[in-house]
Amino acid sequence: MVPPPLPAITTLTAEVRLTYVLQHFWAAYVDVPAVRIGYSAIQPQIEVAAVAHGFFAAAAPYPSEPHWREWNEQRLPFFFDDNRQLPLLELLPASRARINTDIISAAFYLLSGWQEFFSAERDQHGRFPYAASVQARYGFVAVPVVNYYFDILKTAVEHVTGQTLHPRRWAGGAAWASFITHDIDNLRNAWKQPAKAALRRGNLPEFGRQLWRHFTQKDAWDNLELVQQTVAIYGAKSTFFFLPEHRKAANGTPNADYSLNSVRADIGALNAAGAEIQLHASLGTATNLNQLTQEAMVKMRSEPTDVPGIRFHYLQWEPRITPELLGDLAFTYDSTLGFAEHYGFRNSYCLPFNPFNFQRGQPGNFLEIPLNVMDATLHHPRYLQLAPDEILPALTPMFQEIERFRGVCTVLWHNENFDPANQHNGPVQFRAIMEYLRGRNVAFVNGQDILLRHELVRGER
Ligand SMILES: [Zn+2]
Repeated sequence: MVPPPLPAITTLTAEVRLTYVLQHFWAAYVDVPAVRIGYSAIQPQIEVAAVAHGFFAAAAPYPSEPHWREWNEQRLPFFFDDNRQLPLLELLPASRARINTDIISAAFYLLSGWQEFFSAERDQHGRFPYAASVQARYGFVAVPVVNYYFDILKTAVEHVTGQTLHPRRWAGGAAWASFITHDIDNLRNAWKQPAKAALRRGNLPEFGRQLWRHFTQKDAWDNLELVQQTVAIYGAKSTFFFLPEHRKAANGTPNADYSLNSVRADIGALNAAGAEIQLHASLGTATNLNQLTQEAMVKMRSEPTDVPGIRFHYLQWEPRITPELLGDLAFTYDSTLGFAEHYGFRNSYCLPFNPFNFQRGQPGNFLEIPLNVMDATLHHPRYLQLAPDEILPALTPMFQEIERFRGVCTVLWHNENFDPANQHNGPVQFRAIMEYLRGRNVAFVNGQDILLRHELVRGER
């Protein structure tokens, strides 16, 4: 697919980039003392080498190849590294420090979503493909590079001020957090595939049995209470994203296999049990204000909330349009930004952040809670094909990075994958992930908790 044309954008001065990045840096730590950080013109205490060319004045999606340097035994890519012969960080006398590569511009590039805004690559669902990303090209999707850049800045601030910076903690003093979510696409059709398979094999008794079960028993995917209870065993609360559209998209791609009216009682019960109910916006809404407005209204009528959150079906996201729509409709948070094809960090950051609004030249007014791992990504003909016992080992290094930087680990597990018939990315694999998270003393939070904490941080500053 072809993206919409590039909209007119506000010129991105070094000042705008610096402000955007430092805003996120300050928010990541508690009580950061006042320190001047910036390029040489402002005579800062922490001087960052400025990028020596006009990348941000043009509209190219990709900067030149990054230079790799070591920081705390981790090999990291540095874009805009024009002083490759100089050390990464120089701690100088008289409360000064110098960072010899432009980590402000590199952090801006990754965090803002620059690559996908300026790239014209989209897949058949209108999404920016993982294969077109710098994360794929240079192999750092599971490394939160921007958090590492902040760690360099933190070291410089500590040198300059003589004070130790502490990352913010989560509820109950936990070092890190996890956001457990479920997109509800399918509730009615677990029976179809085995029934069709029996018919194909000519196994009529089995076909008859499947049909009989369908008409006499609850569908195996009609399991929301089970989902909620499974998650609750770990002391976690679920966030459910419901899809108000049950008609297919024009190209035949399915939306919900249920109508929202038919699940009112389920939603009420989930709500009563402490689950968060949010909007799973249907195909096409990521680029259509009218359609998105209607779905937001349907959702608000059925489940009013002070903290309206959203995730788009199929993780559809058009960087040239969607951030504007979310701002217009006053959504407080989104949790769509992960790659469908690979787990990891689409914006190279493991804390909630404000995606940049290029049209307005400032941070968007909704919070992005980045999506780290989706069940379908792990086992799917077009994505990864991990064996069941490869899943947790594959994800563990990413979990360790999030824990290290006190971030949020967002997990998406569809209700249909709580069906025991799924032995690839089903309930057993989900429980293994939950065991791991609980074993590492994660704070299980929902979207409202994350947003509330973010508001408190903003209030302090
Ligand atoms: Zn969906």
